[in-house]
Amino acid sequence: MSDVFAGQGSCLCGAVGFSAENAAKNLGACHCGMCRKWGGGPAMMVPCADAVSFSGDENIGVFASSEWAERGFCTSCGSHLFYRVRETREHYIPAGLFDDQDQFSFAEQVCIEQKPAFYAFANDTKTMTQDQLFEQASPDE
Ligand SMILES: [Zn+2]
Ligand SMILES: [Zn+2]
Repeated sequence: MSDVFAGQGSCLCGAVGFSAENAAKNLGACHCGMCRKWGGGPAMMVPCADAVSFSGDENIGVFASSEWAERGFCTSCGSHLFYRVRETREHYIPAGLFDDQDQFSFAEQVCIEQKPAFYAFANDTKTMTQDQLFEQASPDE
């Protein structure tokens, strides 16, 4: 069984569609303050590497959320479309946008040290702090 699948989906209004050739079946939640400010709660994101194409490009707004990453949204309905690492073009797409969500398993929670006390997921997942995440992303530093 493969760890990835070819997934399609769209924003809430349908103005933006996407196709992700290598969507990971194991998704992660991010509890960081930026993701929670962005979405109102933890972001449940599917790693999709760099093989993602969009339709309805003219409806995609992009916000530079840090020096290394940007976040996309539909300018018509406001749905969040992606978190993207600028240099590598790696996309992380919110799980809720996918047409087929039966593929997913909830594997990992990151920035766990920033999770507020008022909620906790019951799923048994791997957890990582932001420091551990950055170490994994850039082992040379
Ligand atoms: Zn939309
Ligand atoms: Zn985050």
